[in-house]
Amino acid sequence: MATATMKMDYYEVLGVTRTASDGEIKTAYRKLAMQYHPDRNPNNPEAENKFKECSEAYTVLSDAEKRAAYDRYGHAAVSGAGGSGNPFAGGGFAQGDIGDIFGDLFGEMFNMGGQRRASSAQRGRDIKFEMGLEFEEAVFGVERDIHIRRAEACSDCSGTGSEGGKQPETCQQCGGRGQIRSQQGFFSVARTCPVCSGTGAVIRNPCKTCRGDGRVQRQHKLHVKVPAGVEQDTRIRYGGEGDAGRWGGPSGDLYVILEVKAHKFFERDGDDLHCVVPVSFPQAALGTELEIETLEGKEKLKIPEGTQSGRELRLRGKGVPHLNSHGKGDLIIEVRVQTPSKLSRQQKDLLKQLGETLPMENSPTSRGLLDKMKGIFS
Ligand SMILES: [Zn+2]
Ligand SMILES: [Zn+2]
Repeated sequence: MATATMKMDYYEVLGVTRTASDGEIKTAYRKLAMQYHPDRNPNNPEAENKFKECSEAYTVLSDAEKRAAYDRYGHAAVSGAGGSGNPFAGGGFAQGDIGDIFGDLFGEMFNMGGQRRASSAQRGRDIKFEMGLEFEEAVFGVERDIHIRRAEACSDCSGTGSEGGKQPETCQQCGGRGQIRSQQGFFSVARTCPVCSGTGAVIRNPCKTCRGDGRVQRQHKLHVKVPAGVEQDTRIRYGGEGDAGRWGGPSGDLYVILEVKAHKFFERDGDDLHCVVPVSFPQAALGTELEIETLEGKEKLKIPEGTQSGRELRLRGKGVPHLNSHGKGDLIIEVRVQTPSKLSRQQKDLLKQLGETLPMENSPTSRGLLDKMKGIFS
């Protein structure tokens, strides 16, 4: 008997307009399918229904021919192909199609393994861990313990997933390949084996501790050595420290990704450090020696006589150590001459007197010319 329930419009089901592009349809479906996926909503018939509904809508709307037929004739045009009314009725939604979509979209996420070659042992996932560093810690290096949550082999079943530590059996349905081929018209279509979900193996008596996965989530402490000279987004790889593999597969890797805080004064440009030092007009004109902060303490800096605002002075080897090699970058100090303001009457008089003795050079000068003059005189 055909289902009596009213069928929702497929476009409404996916929440897209009738003119939506293939990409928009795929995106909308992906979002809904993730939200209502049975793995995420165990024992929730409403979610299951929604999942089937949006899968059905996607199966039709993602196929240009089916979509065109549906646009013209509605549901009648795309149902009834399976012989028993709606091909999706009774929970038997087009397994092959859905499996392919999952292989494409969420193969990794739901472990359905659509594209992957099935084998009972599976490599564990890589783990990313973001580690915040102070600016100085990135420059000089630091050692720190971190705590990560990761999958580790279940000790109750020695990682096999079977009660008593028995190895999983080869899936009879697919012969351990994880995929089943069937003939559809002229085509041979591969779909994920429904018995083993593509893993190729079956566990008869799942371990109670890990429910057959062979792994349990545990907190793990790891000592991280950050070398001197790292920067924002530097990744440190710890091979084999990620999630344990399933059923004896190799472990994934751990990536510690560094997030470096900004500094109050210093900015990094590769291994060079930049900072700005303000000097007074008399200091710039007459020259002076300043004591400035570097990351390694105070340093003397000579400001030559007649220094122009914006001039960059360089302290060699006072920058950031080169990562994994010898030597260091430089500290580059931009001198900024402060124009005096809020002057007393007496100070103004002194400046006027000075001004009268200086040659006037107020005509506009092109930037190129100014640079050339700097080249000649500096
Ligand atoms: Zn176990
Ligand atoms: Zn199988």
